[in-house]
Amino acid sequence: MPMLKKLNKAALDPGLFWFWAYARLLPHGATRRGSLLARRAGLRGPHFILSFDCDTDADSRVVQTLHARLRSNGLSPLYAVAGEVLDAASDAYQNISDDGAVFLNHGFRRHAALDKGTGEVTSTYFYGDVPVDDWQADIRRGHEAVADILGQRPDGFRTPHFASFESPGELATLWRFLTALDYKFSSSTRPLFGLRHGPFFKRAGIMEFPVSGCLSEPRQILDTWGLVRGGSGTTQRLREELRAYLKIMQTGQPLLLNLYMDPVDIAKDDAVIDLLAGFAPYSVASFAATLAQAHHG
Ligand SMILES: [Zn+2]
Repeated sequence: MPMLKKLNKAALDPGLFWFWAYARLLPHGATRRGSLLARRAGLRGPHFILSFDCDTDADSRVVQTLHARLRSNGLSPLYAVAGEVLDAASDAYQNISDDGAVFLNHGFRRHAALDKGTGEVTSTYFYGDVPVDDWQADIRRGHEAVADILGQRPDGFRTPHFASFESPGELATLWRFLTALDYKFSSSTRPLFGLRHGPFFKRAGIMEFPVSGCLSEPRQILDTWGLVRGGSGTTQRLREELRAYLKIMQTGQPLLLNLYMDPVDIAKDDAVIDLLAGFAPYSVASFAATLAQAHHG
């Protein structure tokens, strides 16, 4: 993101800017703070939520096999699938849903374009760029897609594209809208929100779960989009960051790792899947289950 845009965002939310600077200057302090806030939120040990954003048909093609492998390793991933993507591969997602996986409403319209030749993915359709009526209709249609195709009634939502729709005004409008639709959870914010407010926090009736950041660089989302596609093209850095989390979690200290990835980026990577299996003892299958662990349920 260009510096000017970053500064613009900071001006919209000065409190967040403070944590941006803190995370940049004191990454180890951010790790300690994450643990402190997890303890304050009621978590007594490490917890691991794994979710997959399925934005393209390339994700849909690998998702069933990946799901089966992760399940056999003791993990229970959640899925955020854009409605149009869900509709185009409904059998695959139905099988995953029948296995008990929780699906988040991830809007309806496709928000990523896949170049079939190169595999490159371009982001499209940002909620911040369209009128309120437009994104609210997209959320309603996303809800109907999950309900109609999978027979699940989603109570959690994830906005398409992190860091693109999170000014205080946008988030307040989003959370109020989700509450009006009878939702309970959202996982739509960047790691800075976790650093500022904790592993989850309630606003306008919605419990928001920010995605987690890298321990070495707490401002950066720990995901395949940034670390694999936006990085070296390999999963090396992703594996290093996961190992660092695992090491801390194995000490038993309270911490929530809310990790999201894109299926196609790791589906065939045995090293990543083996590492993920190490998180099985801490795995929770839903946001509701996490709150129950923290006695907020
Ligand atoms: Zn997405």
